[in-house]
Amino acid sequence: MALKIRPRAVEAIAEVIRGGSGALETGGALFGSDSAEVIEHATTPGPKAIHGPANFSRDREHTKAESSRLYRLDRSRWIGEWHTHPATELIPSEVDLATYVRHLTDPELRFERFLALICSASAPIQVAAWRIRIVSGRVTVDSPRLEVIHPS
Ligand SMILES: [Zn+2]
Repeated sequence: MALKIRPRAVEAIAEVIRGGSGALETGGALFGSDSAEVIEHATTPGPKAIHGPANFSRDREHTKAESSRLYRLDRSRWIGEWHTHPATELIPSEVDLATYVRHLTDPELRFERFLALICSASAPIQVAAWRIRIVSGRVTVDSPRLEVIHPS
């Protein structure tokens, strides 16, 4: 099943990448419908985010505030994360996977799957979509097609 994304989420990601240095990682959280795998919103890193050449931590307070706002707006929930890889392939690193698995195995978060978009850090912006699940106790990673939902 293809992963769907709203144009506004694509645009939000592109705007952050265009405004960044291109040499340091950036990113944010993804919000939407978990069951239907629709990315409704992508958030910005936030003012207190940490940007390194091969590491990125988003601003937790900012993400928490966005989470509340987006839930009130359209019941969107936290479904994943996006970040850039300035110098490496657009595949999850060991650290990325460890983070995703930590979220997946946190019983309070109750994720069925964790979605990740890994993007190039400069134009032309490329995006690779990843779906991480735990199936029968094993970490399963696949790369679904990313489909932009165009308004009809
Ligand atoms: Zn990464």
